[in-house]
Amino acid sequence: MRKCSFCVQRIDDGKQPACVVKCPTRALTYYPDWESAPVMPAYGRKERLHMVYALEDDASRYTLPDPVPLNTVRSGQLWKWLVGLIPGAIALAWLWNRVAPEEGQDD
Ligand code: SF4
Repeated sequence: MRKCSFCVQRIDDGKQPACVVKCPTRALTYYPDWESAPVMPAYGRKERLHMVYALEDDASRYTLPDPVPLNTVRSGQLWKWLVGLIPGAIALAWLWNRVAPEEGQDD
């Protein structure tokens, strides 16, 4: 598969998307319009998990952690980003000290 086209050619022919038909575990359901799609709780959306699951039943039935664990990757990435800033700030300060004219030194 190169890029999902939502199987528009199949949908135009009144068929379901190929992945929905071919999925061995029947994990995919195709709803032709939003109105017919049931509103299911999205496990992990509020916690900003990388995978969000639309659940028909309690999370425990799917052996998913209940309550939903927090996204520790995200806060870890924030710290990595902040720590990464430090060498940059030091390099800039060093460079500034090298190029900035000393006080009282006129051209
Ligand atoms: S089969 Fe599924 S993933 Fe592939 S193009 Fe069709 S809708 Fe997209």
